[in-house]
Amino acid sequence: MSVITGITRGGVEWTPSFVTSLNQSICIGCGRCYKVCPRDVFELLERDELDLEEIEDADDDFDEAPGMVMSLRDMLDCIGCEACSRVCPKGCLSHEPQALAA
Ligand code: SF4
Ligand code: SF4
Repeated sequence: MSVITGITRGGVEWTPSFVTSLNQSICIGCGRCYKVCPRDVFELLERDELDLEEIEDADDDFDEAPGMVMSLRDMLDCIGCEACSRVCPKGCLSHEPQALAA
């Protein structure tokens, strides 16, 4: 299966890995993914009260926003840089290469 690939200015091929899902059950709403994303992929939403217990073990040194949760507003705008997963403290995001259209 051929996938979408890129190339650096130095001529090195790389394979973008596009965001495919965000696990809202472990997201602490810190906003780090939103801040680093160069595209318009993320949106911070209000978390309903039933889910608030799930952020009790959140690390204290992150500027998490209790009551908020990140969502994927437009996955199709992702360029597969994986910066969001590099900064996410909870490992919420999943990525996959994208098959080339036939
Ligand atoms: S992989 Fe890059 S472009 Fe895609 S959602 Fe993450 S930070 Fe944004
Ligand atoms: S960086 Fe991770 S924990 Fe923070 S808002 Fe984004 S998905 Fe949620």
